[in-house]
Amino acid sequence: MKRILLIATGGTIACAKTQNGLAPALDPSQLLARVPDARGFCQVEAIQPLNLDSTNIAPQHWQLLARIIEDHYHCYDGFVLCHGTDTLAYSAAALSYLIQNTRKPIVLTGAQKPIDQEDTDARQNLLDSLRYACSGDSGVCIVFGGHVIAGTRARKTRTKSYNAFSSINFPDIAEIRDHRVVRFIPCAQSGAPSFTHSLNTRVALLKLIPGLDPGAFAASGQLCDGLIIESYGVGGIPDLYLDQLDALAQAGKTVVLATQVPQEGSDLSVYQVGRRVKERCGLLEPYDMTLESTVTKLMWVLGQTRDPEEVRRLFYTPVNYDLLF
Ligand code: ASP
Repeated sequence: MKRILLIATGGTIACAKTQNGLAPALDPSQLLARVPDARGFCQVEAIQPLNLDSTNIAPQHWQLLARIIEDHYHCYDGFVLCHGTDTLAYSAAALSYLIQNTRKPIVLTGAQKPIDQEDTDARQNLLDSLRYACSGDSGVCIVFGGHVIAGTRARKTRTKSYNAFSSINFPDIAEIRDHRVVRFIPCAQSGAPSFTHSLNTRVALLKLIPGLDPGAFAASGQLCDGLIIESYGVGGIPDLYLDQLDALAQAGKTVVLATQVPQEGSDLSVYQVGRRVKERCGLLEPYDMTLESTVTKLMWVLGQTRDPEEVRRLFYTPVNYDLLF
């Protein structure tokens, strides 16, 4: 029987009602008690390194979780992380960069309703995740609402419905149908698994709105080594901010020009407002990467190197299906 490590971190799936609203309370044995069918197909051991609403998850928690998986990698056939849904897509993307070429499934899941409620998606999501973790497939992914989404492609697109996550600019890699894994995208891991530990958390995001004060660029630049600017459409920078952008580039900041549009990604070559900044300041662009992947990849890349050529090479090297362009 496959051996699975369940890593509980809190989230709605483990929540109980308090006078002040839902808060994580259940321990992993209480989660597992709600999915007795799992005993029929796997042997689960469990730990609970965190018990947080995922609103409170931060990069040091991603490093902790990656370290736990590395330490236990050879003892288990797969890993299931129970996690709050609010920042689940960031954690899945971060783990995709910290743990590359995993030959074992590393599954993140959660729920929109606590597992103790009668009407809940939690039991199905946990059972599906354990089943997928036993599948022998590889890679970091999210299992939620019957969908298996690459860890770099997920976004929480619904705050309440059970189908909370969408795969952005990429198909689901599999589905769980009637307790069976139906795989659509072949496993693509090659080479030995690699674990890295460094992240540069000095990454910031600046969302353009018409009329934004130009001072926002310098202020954001002070906070970070890497700045992601969420611009409009396929990407472009208003005339008003060109000098600010030059100043950031001269100060050695890595600048990524992304888009606020949820689907289909950037292409700075299309319009003059995009092409001129790409040529002038050597900006990076995410193309079809999600914002969650862009943020965590930039933290990971800048944690490995500050050499601009190496930053560019790593940023444009596809990891766990994050980039197709
Ligand atoms: N606020 C919760 C969390 O992210 C929401 C959830 O888990 O669905 O921990």
